[in-house]
Amino acid sequence: MQDMGGKFQVTILRDWCKGCDLCVSECPVKILVKGSHLNSRGLLYVEVTESSLCTGCRRCATVCPDVAIRIEMEA
Ligand code: SF4
Ligand code: SF4
Repeated sequence: MQDMGGKFQVTILRDWCKGCDLCVSECPVKILVKGSHLNSRGLLYVEVTESSLCTGCRRCATVCPDVAIRIEMEA
């Protein structure tokens, strides 16, 4: 999907994330980082640094094998 303009909310479904970091290397604006907190499964889930910089490209959501990322356009 192409960039859509506007602002996007990036949500990591922390308990679904297994910390594989595929999304970290995929994000072109580098706003996804390896986490430092454990989720309920004892895994380090990814964190979002600057949601306001998200371009809405959805590369992260596409690459995530566990469907743990939601990208939503802000109203
Ligand atoms: S949608 Fe694109 S810019 Fe936004 S967090 Fe995912 S990979 Fe990064
Ligand atoms: S690709 Fe998905 S499972 Fe892997 S670190 Fe990112 S959000 Fe977590």
